[in-house]
Amino acid sequence: MPVDNRRAWSGTLARSVLLLLGATVLGALLGYAWPALALAALALLAWHGWHLRGVLQRLQLRKRMPDPTGTGAWGQLDRLLHRNQHETRARNRRLLAMLRAYRAAAAALPDAVVVVERNRQRILWFNEAATRLLGLQAPRDIDAPLGARLQPLPVAHWLASGRHAEPMSDVASPVSAEIRLNLRLIPYSDELWLLVARDVTKLMRLEHMRRDFVANVSHELRTPLTVVHGYLELLDESGLAPEEQPAWAPMLAEMQRQSQRMTQLVEDLLTLSRLESLDAIDEQSVAMQPMLATLRSEALALSQNRHAIEVHDTAGVDLWGSQKELHSAFSNLVSNAVRYTPAGGTVAITFAPDDAGGALLSVRDSGYGIPATHLPRITERFYRVSNSRSRESGGTGLGLSIVKHVLNLHQARLEIESEVGRGSTFACHFGPQRVLPRDPSSR
Ligand code: ADP
Repeated sequence: MPVDNRRAWSGTLARSVLLLLGATVLGALLGYAWPALALAALALLAWHGWHLRGVLQRLQLRKRMPDPTGTGAWGQLDRLLHRNQHETRARNRRLLAMLRAYRAAAAALPDAVVVVERNRQRILWFNEAATRLLGLQAPRDIDAPLGARLQPLPVAHWLASGRHAEPMSDVASPVSAEIRLNLRLIPYSDELWLLVARDVTKLMRLEHMRRDFVANVSHELRTPLTVVHGYLELLDESGLAPEEQPAWAPMLAEMQRQSQRMTQLVEDLLTLSRLESLDAIDEQSVAMQPMLATLRSEALALSQNRHAIEVHDTAGVDLWGSQKELHSAFSNLVSNAVRYTPAGGTVAITFAPDDAGGALLSVRDSGYGIPATHLPRITERFYRVSNSRSRESGGTGLGLSIVKHVLNLHQARLEIESEVGRGSTFACHFGPQRVLPRDPSSR
């Protein structure tokens, strides 16, 4: 027992004993020892009862405790209750101030924030930006169903997919189709989810301008390049015997090589712009046997017998997607495998079932490999591990960006494994929805 409590307790006990003793002695002097003791005990009991009633009443009414002044056990109890009440009130005040500060911060966020009750899909709270970006109105929309309020956004379906819900990017706001939004769902407890909508209108406009600019520049470069290329071909005298060739023949050959590189660059940029502006692709059944045969002959042509080319087809299925774009992606991977593998190496193209019920097309080589630090950025435009090696082999630095875009359009993913000096594997994983039974007539 703490010292204060012990002191208060023994004080009260001593006073009670003294009172009872005093009453008994006084009673004995007057000849009424027992009645005097009983009277004193009753008075003591009444006094304790009165104090107890006071404390219960104060607790019941949640009244503010008066400043404790008493002594003994009741005084100590008053002091402790007063201290607890004071601390609880101070803690509540602090919590309330914190809650207000958090609410004010959330309300002032430029992003729309909506707290959603997950099971009932109802709105519990939202900030001011949610009114501007999502058209929610307080108090009308508090406790309203989120899906109905945000129509035509497919949020109900989104909430149902739970923790695996992918962010929705570049969707039209329910307020106006001019406002473009990125939506994210953040589960912060089992029942409560946060829907965050960010206004990306300006970003999208800039992105659009960038895409148009690249496409226009590439398009404008096409004609002058064709002319330059044509004249260089006219001047080409490489058919002549070495002694008859003019002194500027090597320069001409270099100019031809560079103009070819530029043409390839322009073509790749145009392909990328086209892929970026596509929301959906022209889908059809893609026969994989002829596709694999084409990839093999392209690899053989590029390799000029310097590599062993293997094709393994164990999937026994076809793909559903765009024949043209898939061919462009696969042939970029095959071309990389041949270009980044020294003579004598092996390039293996495999089409096989994958663990998730889909199919995978992988291109494995025994080439230079890619250091692990480069892998996270390897699909960015113009990202190269070695500039000189890429240029010497006729690379534009855009091949893997094209592959990534094509796979995104097919909801497929690219997995890269590589070890320096041992080679690389680029695997394109297609989901079960992209797989079709093989058409026997397409052999
Ligand atoms: P590039 O036209 O330069 O080949 P890509 O986008 O196709 O551009 O590839 C980007 C970079 O990734 C290449 O410059 C090269 O460094 C590296 N790379 C791609 N494929 C392979 C591979 N199979 N083996 C080794 N490095 C590769």
